[in-house]
Amino acid sequence: MPSTPRIAVIGAGPAGCMLARLLHVAGIPTVVFESESSPDYRSQGGTLDLHTSTGLAALQKAGLFEDFLAAARYDGDHLQITDHRCKVFLEIAGPTTHVEGTGGNAGKLRREQRPEIDRAELRRILTESLPPGMIRWGHHLRHFDAERRTLTFDGPVPPESGFDLVVGADGAWSKVRAAIVHGDQGKPVSCGVGGYELSIPDPQTAAPELLSAVKRGSVFAHAEHRRLCMQQMGDGSLSVYVLLKQDDENWAQRCGYDSKDLAQVKDALLEGENSPFRDWDPLLRSAISKAEGKCVPRTLYQLPPGLRWEHQSGVTLIGDAAHLMSPFAGEGVNVALSDAMNLAGQIVKAVGEGGDQEVLDRAVKEYEEDMWPRAGKVALLADRLTKLWMFEKGTPGSVMVATTASHVNFDKPWYLQPLTTAMVRGYFLFKWIVG
Ligand SMILES: Cc1cc2nc3c(=O)[nH]c(=O)nc-3n(C[C@H](O)[C@H](O)[C@H](O)COP(=O)(O)OP(=O)(O)OC[C@H]3O[C@@H](n4cnc5c(N)ncnc54)[C@H](O)[C@@H]3O)c2cc1C
Repeated sequence: MPSTPRIAVIGAGPAGCMLARLLHVAGIPTVVFESESSPDYRSQGGTLDLHTSTGLAALQKAGLFEDFLAAARYDGDHLQITDHRCKVFLEIAGPTTHVEGTGGNAGKLRREQRPEIDRAELRRILTESLPPGMIRWGHHLRHFDAERRTLTFDGPVPPESGFDLVVGADGAWSKVRAAIVHGDQGKPVSCGVGGYELSIPDPQTAAPELLSAVKRGSVFAHAEHRRLCMQQMGDGSLSVYVLLKQDDENWAQRCGYDSKDLAQVKDALLEGENSPFRDWDPLLRSAISKAEGKCVPRTLYQLPPGLRWEHQSGVTLIGDAAHLMSPFAGEGVNVALSDAMNLAGQIVKAVGEGGDQEVLDRAVKEYEEDMWPRAGKVALLADRLTKLWMFEKGTPGSVMVATTASHVNFDKPWYLQPLTTAMVRGYFLFKWIVG
């Protein structure tokens, strides 16, 4: 192996782009192969909240924090959890801007912050930070030969080989993972939850009452086995997610109507005796009835929390390819960006040690040994929250203590957890007493 390794990254999502950016900054040549034909090929819908010690730390390390600040929405952190009658069970106001430390901590973020950014904006910042040509758009990996490290693509694109390291950042249905994680444990399974991604493009005109209810942040409204989420987007639109418990992962093909036809979906969700949102507050129902444009049915999938595999020389995984989890913990992209940051650090270290393949492999193994328990812990949290929110009876009231305590206890040592759980219980008891 030459002293500077040849690195291929599969997938120009947040994880792949961040890794490429960090390696580029360190002067390590990298090539990214991406299925999509251009950065804005597919609607990059939805908003992501980035956290201080993970997503935001990676952006800082990549020298992209100023660009992030220009696009981020700190007030997008405003969160409300309600029931289907709009009764508020929890409301947390976000800061209006980022908060930095002072003195020796100047320039560093103070306390945990969770600003929102539109997924499309995050991709724009990351892709624009890479030199032209570093991302090879329109390269859909069809097959990966992990022994020879040969990449075969769809269409007339010639195969590529000769890489010292191939990093699978190719998301939920990773072809790189399929080549190194054998058997069923490498296959995503349905979380038992599915629904629709909808949008209200101009709520200022079409739904001002929803816009003011959202308070520039997010509303998560719940009833048993149902969630309706509304989120403010940076372009002024509202994104609306409707989630339902789904016993059949192929529900979208078997539901008896066209699950991509917005009019038919509205009808199925709102009208008729058994429609799931029939008895919901008119304000919440209007988030569905006022949706326009695309209607994207989606089943949520996950990999087994804590998935590991036998290390394979010259290959590894980052992001959803390594640890796909449900979005209920709101951590997927943060873990993905941490992976990129940690793997880049290991690669830079190996190159600094004049690394041959053995040194590079040792560094990649170190990344994997750190990533497995770190991501596994988050995946367990996401799994637990999915089950609480979507499978328990009497939601949201019945799960407020358990879900809030799960978040609060996430980083707490085990011996403090009974105390913090008691404090959370006390908080909700107090709220219940004062009405
Ligand atoms: C509905 C929903 C809401 C979410 N909300 C949040 C949230 O609020 N907070 C949060 O932290 N996370 C959230 N997530 C999770 C988050 O989106 C993912 O964890 C994150 O996008 C992972 O980044 P990634 O780069 O690993 O994968 P991806 O974003 O999936 O990117 C993978 C890239 O690889 C490309 N690719 C795939 N296959 C191939 C191939 N064969 N050849 C070449 N290229 C390929 C894809 O086109 C894509 O560009 C949410 C997820 C969903 C589904």
